[in-house]
Amino acid sequence: MSILKIKIGLEIHVTINTQSKLFCSCSTKQSSPNTQVCPVCLGHPGSKPVTNKEAVKKIILIAKALNCELREELIFSRKSYFYPDLSKNYQITQFEEPIGENGFFESKGKIRIKRVHLEEDPASITRTNKTLIDYNRSGTPLAEIVTEPDITSSLQARAFMKKLLRDLQYLEVFNGEDVIKADVNVSVEKSGFKRVEVKNVTGFKDIQSVIEHEVRRQQKEEVVENETRGWDAAKRKTYSMRKKETEADYAYIYEPDIPIIDVSKFLGVKLPKLSDERIKDFIEKGVDPVDADIICMRKDVADFFEKTTSEPKITSYWVRRELLRVLEDNAVEETFLDAKEFSKLIELVEKKTLNENIAKEILELMRDKKIDVKKYVEKNNLKTLNDDNLIEETVKRVLKENQKAVEDYKSGEEKALQYLVGQDMKLTKGKAHPKKTNEMILERIE
Ligand SMILES: [Zn+2]
Repeated sequence: MSILKIKIGLEIHVTINTQSKLFCSCSTKQSSPNTQVCPVCLGHPGSKPVTNKEAVKKIILIAKALNCELREELIFSRKSYFYPDLSKNYQITQFEEPIGENGFFESKGKIRIKRVHLEEDPASITRTNKTLIDYNRSGTPLAEIVTEPDITSSLQARAFMKKLLRDLQYLEVFNGEDVIKADVNVSVEKSGFKRVEVKNVTGFKDIQSVIEHEVRRQQKEEVVENETRGWDAAKRKTYSMRKKETEADYAYIYEPDIPIIDVSKFLGVKLPKLSDERIKDFIEKGVDPVDADIICMRKDVADFFEKTTSEPKITSYWVRRELLRVLEDNAVEETFLDAKEFSKLIELVEKKTLNENIAKEILELMRDKKIDVKKYVEKNNLKTLNDDNLIEETVKRVLKENQKAVEDYKSGEEKALQYLVGQDMKLTKGKAHPKKTNEMILERIE
């Protein structure tokens, strides 16, 4: 079987997490429709845009993290088109001279980055039996990231998106809960790599589905043409929209209302450690690579892990399994979880002072209120029973009260042993040392 040759390029739109919009002081916070608006973002005649410095700094961080060549001047253009989501009839974007070009990003191979630029988001449109427009979104800053068609499979595209989103979190330029949108272009060798672009795909799972769908469709079809398609997320298929328009159709002009901004003083900004570097650090501390990868999926979790003081490999196990479980969708900062107390909890388990199941329950409490672990364990008398005499006493009692289970075990039912240990735990409220209890029960039966 010959290997299918596929070329995939992505044009990704990411909302940059600034306090205010790109060219006015309207807030970017969620609010009821059409309340975060002003003459600038509504495009009233005579209103003048003023560029948001925070957005400029953040687009530079993004372009740097994607290893782009950077321009010292920020130059905007107008992209003219008529559509109700754009009250000015043009979008302020960067065209001829994007802030970043010719970069690359490593994700299961080197993906070249064609350009990175800053632009404003149009309003959002909801269609019911009417068309509803919310201009709150109009003018919020977007980063557009365009790759060369270097991606060769849907899995690689997904891995790329995942890593990109992760690093944008590390740069603190993107809120994890914001949706990501992309135009996806897919071409196959069979058609002579005719370029088909699918517009406005939301979320990286759908991006993967679009690629898989398009590859199947283009392999099957007799003639594939250069065209723009849409994605019907409900029917899980693409549909033809128009034969590809060219950028010239948008009649770009340089934006006359915004002066050229000298950004050279921002270009020296230092990048924080990104996910690959964090993963490497953790592996060097002895953490299993798979665990390191999972911990670094979330910056808040990686930061938390870094602050722990207990043995890294054991701690990583607890972070990956238990911390992520109790956090659910909450950010660490939204809870009472504290890395020092978390480490103490793990150390108590490691010293066999505390049974694992009790520790897991305490961890759940630690999410919801401030707890001094050692005091809490003392006060509630939760220490593991290590006293052989005490354990022997409860074991004797359990065996006496559960004769049937003892007989079952003797006649080969392994499960009966688990039951007996369980009964013992019940009696000691989970505090008996599990291994000792197990051994003592076996000793006595045999
Ligand atoms: Zn505004």
